[in-house]
Order: sequence, then structure tokens, then C-alpha cells
Amino acid sequence: MKGTVARLCRLLVASFFALVAVNVQATTVESMRLWAAPDHARLVFDLSAATDANVFSLENPARLVIDLEDTQIDTDPSTLPLNDSAITSVRTGVRDGGGLRVVLELNREIQPRHFTLRPNDQYGHRLVVDLEYPGESAVENPIDPIEAMIRDQETQSQRQATAQQQVPGSASSPDEAVKVQPAKPHPRRDIIIAIDAGHGGEDPGAIGPSGTREKDVVLEIARRLASEVNGTPGFKAVLTRDGDYYIGLRQRTALAREQKADFFVSIHADAFTSPRPQGSSVYALSQRGATSETAQWLADSENRSDLIGGVDGTLSLRDKDQVLRGVLLDLTMTATLNDSLSIGGQVLEQLGRMNRLHKSRVEQAGFMVLKSPDIPSLLIEVGFISNPDEERRLRDPVHQSGLSKAIFSGLREHFERYPPPASLLAWQRDNQRRPSGNEYRIQSGDTLSAIAVRHGVPVNQLKQANDINGDVIRVGQVLQIPRS
Ligand SMILES: [Zn+2]
Repeated sequence: MKGTVARLCRLLVASFFALVAVNVQATTVESMRLWAAPDHARLVFDLSAATDANVFSLENPARLVIDLEDTQIDTDPSTLPLNDSAITSVRTGVRDGGGLRVVLELNREIQPRHFTLRPNDQYGHRLVVDLEYPGESAVENPIDPIEAMIRDQETQSQRQATAQQQVPGSASSPDEAVKVQPAKPHPRRDIIIAIDAGHGGEDPGAIGPSGTREKDVVLEIARRLASEVNGTPGFKAVLTRDGDYYIGLRQRTALAREQKADFFVSIHADAFTSPRPQGSSVYALSQRGATSETAQWLADSENRSDLIGGVDGTLSLRDKDQVLRGVLLDLTMTATLNDSLSIGGQVLEQLGRMNRLHKSRVEQAGFMVLKSPDIPSLLIEVGFISNPDEERRLRDPVHQSGLSKAIFSGLREHFERYPPPASLLAWQRDNQRRPSGNEYRIQSGDTLSAIAVRHGVPVNQLKQANDINGDVIRVGQVLQIPRS
């Protein structure tokens, strides 16, 4: 009897430890997802519980090892779409002590980075492993646009200072320097349109009643818009993403800035809790809160993208230059906001010809993706993916192409009316018209001072009348000659 009790006790103790052991080995890799971007690959592990990993590189051959303690795997990594990524194969194995080891065979040099994400509306616990490709990144560090402007200003004033030092024995003002600058050939450059397809990769955006994902239809429309733009002389398109991967909201505008875009347009599809709302809307940034409650709600939900897409960390504003920052922001925001609203009006008018409009004027709200103060920017909600009828049309190539044509003709109308000075469009406009009595077309070899003397006006007045701040005049440019 005594022996039986002891045996029973041992059994109980043993099963208790067995239970504990099962409980400890609680984490399961439920699925793995891979997104291949041109400058990085992102591997996401969907986990049954919060687990961190030990990630390290091995050489000869190049591999990345991801060790997860007390974890088992319940998915087949061989189904991952490895095409266009740095990964050639994925192996998994059990480590001593019950851990999971995932080995990625690599075909190029990478810089690994990993972090964990807590559950949100769409996903549970996740481990994110980013494989960044050194040298490929279009934007190394997405820097704050205001900071970039401060840097630009600093280098510009430094350059001016050196230029003045180099003219010996002259107390030359920038004005003097202008007089000897001969007219430069007109660059006839393209107007750069940055096209941003919203969401992507892990972040599907809104999902329609029959499963259409916003990230897919907006990429289609963005690509169509890009080919409209590229098919028109004097314009060039840059896509912030051209595939199914996620880019941080800050990085999208940083890319546009790096490409020296004249205009930034972010394409989205709207969603609402009821199936009824439909139609397109056009948004510009607002600094003073949204024009309507819906606009605020929408801005909040679009801004949540970074949480879903898994961009960790926030950009810190340096307190240095706080005053300059404020002044610059005010100046450039007002200027670009006016442009944004003007372009928005044109786009809305064109969209209204082929699609129902949800809102008949350009709305304003605090979208993070529009906070690029020196580039006029719009966010276009092409339609409601939550409306079954509109969901179907958003998938239709004819409708997609109609939307992109409408958006482009709005843009085009604006830029034909107000072409940037160095653009082909500006050159065409100037050369298509005969200068009137008080105008002069700059010839090769002309200098501002020679033109001023010939017309009997002071150089300063000539510059003022033509908004010339720097020292560049261009052949073919038409100058207004002020009456002296
Ligand atoms: Zn969206």
C-alpha cells in the first residue's frame, strides 16, 4: 500500500513536470511571410506567443541564422516566394534543448535587422527579420524634410561665401556676380511626378466585401498613372513602390524628395463601415486639423499603416534649429499647400468627369504621407472599396485606366499653366509665343547686365520684375522689361 502511494506520487510529479515542459514549449511558428523589395527583403514569422530571436550571420557560404528558443514550427517554409529576394533557400532544424533554428541561404551581402511586433487588428505576435541590401537603398536614412531643407540652405550659403572669396579684390555682392554670368542653355528638364501606391506587403490596406485588397488595386492604378506620365514628353514618373512590399510613410516622401520630385501623389482606396458610400475624394495636407470628421478618421486610419507595416521607432526632431524649422515650415507649407490645392482642384474636376465624387472639393487632413513641406502633395482616394459596386469597378482595367488618365490630365493642366522654370514645358511656353513690346527673349551669350544696359533699366529692377533670385538665366527665357 505504502509502495503504491509512493508510486502514485512519483507518477503525479512526473506528469506535472511533463505538463510544465509542454507549457514551456508553447511558441509555435504558425506561418511565415516574405516580401521582396528592391532594397530589402522582409521575413515575417507569425508566432503563437511573444518570442524574441537570436539572429546572426555566417560566412562561406553566406547564411543568416535565426534561433528561436522553445519554439516549434507548424508551416512549410519551402512554399515561400523567394524570387527577387536575397534568399536562395530556407532550412529549419531542431536545436538541442527544443529550440528552432531557421537558416537562410543567401546570394548576396545583407545587413540583418530584427524586431518583434505585438498583436494588432490583423495579425498576432510577430517576429520581423529585415535583410537590408547595402548600397541598394534609395534612401539610407529617411530624414526629416525640414532638416534636409536646413542642410540645403547651409550648403547653399557656404557655396555663396566661397564663391565671393574667390573673386579677388572685389567687394562683390551676389548681384555683381550675376552681371558676368552668361545665359546658360535651357535644361528643358522633365517634370518629376512621384507616384505612391498606398500600403503594400504586410499591410493590405482596406479590404472589399469580396476580398479585393486596397494595396493591389492602388498599385495597378499607380502603374497605369506612371505609364501615362512617362508617355508624355516633359514628364517623368517615379514609383515609390513597384511591387508587393511595405515602405514606411516617412520613407515614401523621402524617396520623392531624393528624386527631386515636383509633385507627390499617394493613391488609396477608401473604406467605410457601411457599404453605401462611394466616389473619389482628393486630400491635401492640413496643418490645422481636418476639414471634416470623416477626413480626420480617414487620416488616422491611413496613418496607422506604419503600425501594421511594422516600422518601429519614431523620428526624433532635433531641438536645434527649432526656430528656423518653424519659419521654414510656415513659408514652404503655405506655398506648397497653395499648389497642392490648385492641383487638387484640377484633379478633382477631371475625376468628376468619369467617376462619382464623394466630396466635391479638395478636403484637408493631417496625412503623414503628405508631410513633405517642399513638394506639393495630394492623397487621392480613388473610390470606396467597401462599396460592392465600386469594388468591382476598381478591379476593372478599363476603370483603372480611366482613373489614371483623369488624375494625369488634372496634373498636366496645372503644370502647363505653371511650369517649373527649368522644365521643358516652361521652355515650350516661352518659345511658342512672340515676346511683346516690353519683353525680351534671352539669346546665347547674353548677360543680365548687358540686357539691363540695353534696355536702360537697373539690374536689380530687372531681377525683381522676373523673380530672379540666383545667378542663372537661360537661353530662350522670356524676361519682362520693367518701365523705368
Ligand atoms: Zn489607404
